[in-house]
Amino acid sequence: MSHADSAHAVTADAPALHPDYQADEAGFFGEFGGAELPPHLVEPMAEVAREYAAASADPAFQAEYQALLSKYVGRPSLLYYAENLSRKLGGAKIYLKREDLNHTGAHKINHTLGEALLAKRMGKRTLIAETGAGQHGVALATAAALTGLKCEIHMGAIDVAKQHPNVVRMELLGAKVVTVEEGGRSLKEAVDSAFGTYAADPEEYFFAIGSVVGPHPYPTMVRDFQSVVGREARAQILEAEGTLPDYLVAAVGGGSNALGLFTAFLGDESVKLVGVEPGGEGLEGTRHAATMTLGTPGVLHGMRTKVLQDAAGEPSAVHSIASGIDYPGVGPQHARLEQLGRADYVIASDAETLAAFQLLTRTEGIIPALESSHAVAHAVKLAPTLATDEIIIVNLSGRGDKDVDFVAELLAK
Ligand SMILES: *Cc1c(COP(=O)(O)O)cnc(C)c1O
Repeated sequence: MSHADSAHAVTADAPALHPDYQADEAGFFGEFGGAELPPHLVEPMAEVAREYAAASADPAFQAEYQALLSKYVGRPSLLYYAENLSRKLGGAKIYLKREDLNHTGAHKINHTLGEALLAKRMGKRTLIAETGAGQHGVALATAAALTGLKCEIHMGAIDVAKQHPNVVRMELLGAKVVTVEEGGRSLKEAVDSAFGTYAADPEEYFFAIGSVVGPHPYPTMVRDFQSVVGREARAQILEAEGTLPDYLVAAVGGGSNALGLFTAFLGDESVKLVGVEPGGEGLEGTRHAATMTLGTPGVLHGMRTKVLQDAAGEPSAVHSIASGIDYPGVGPQHARLEQLGRADYVIASDAETLAAFQLLTRTEGIIPALESSHAVAHAVKLAPTLATDEIIIVNLSGRGDKDVDFVAELLAK
């Protein structure tokens, strides 16, 4: 389809979401999603679902959330035409959605603020979550400080040692960091520990999940809070180019920044959606986190989704150069979008990601997060195969300041 045809019926407001792209009442996107929970957590999670449904339909709640996005996060974020990079690659025009320019430097603040407002509305006093690399913990501690809630972050002992600066940030922001010494002392044990504490006192705590994962309503709720990214990008590209993009490209860990960008475009059938997963050191063995590519249906963290798992259904060990996307599961809506043929999922290896990190830094003076660099790496492959009037929007989910020491170490090798 030519741009003239596709632009014909396009208006600035995104089309309403087709039922294929919405969860049913039990939180299922087709066969994926739902709420697979131990009996004592069924009612607390159902309460979150009811309260979120009421809040999302309440104009006062939405207005309070929108005000925080514009006055605190700094939205709308820029949609930047990366002219140097596009010229260098010789093909499609590449635009970057600059979530790295948000307060705290990534997209996660979009949903932690929404979760904090919902927690307050529900009368909860403490936000609780697990964190791996610490990015979700810092974004949540920030939202807690702003909204006057307490915050408790569970973190494996190994991660506490590895991610020391983020532990300091969380504590400075007033959060209590609980070091988990059980088992492998990493993310999996931190999830169990945080969930256990929450389950013992769901009156006190609001469980604030950090991506479009977990039991219903989190995959829907976190997606809704992130969908501002795509609504802005859609209006911005129509303003800049007078047409819709040909491709959207985003890194996928749990999948929140990807769904944030994709959602407003789901009804625009001409726009191709591409999620990029960590190919790590290669797909043989376990030094990757390519859940969409190699995962099989299973249950993880309260949801039915695609999972990298062994024969016994235990989640596999995973790896990525970017610690924010090394997750053996994926948001259930991504599994559904793939099944519907609406989105494609590809991989970028550690080496391709590192090269893309350097390329963007040198050509545009923008240091991307290693997570976001996976999306840049795919755009580097895709752009030269396209015509110069085609358009790619890459979600630059976060800034790379947190990664510079690690990258310098890798480059020195
Ligand atoms: C956490 C994080 C991600 C991965 O999370 P998604 O839910 O897959 O978006 C990607 N980019 C940055 C910068 C992050 O901090």
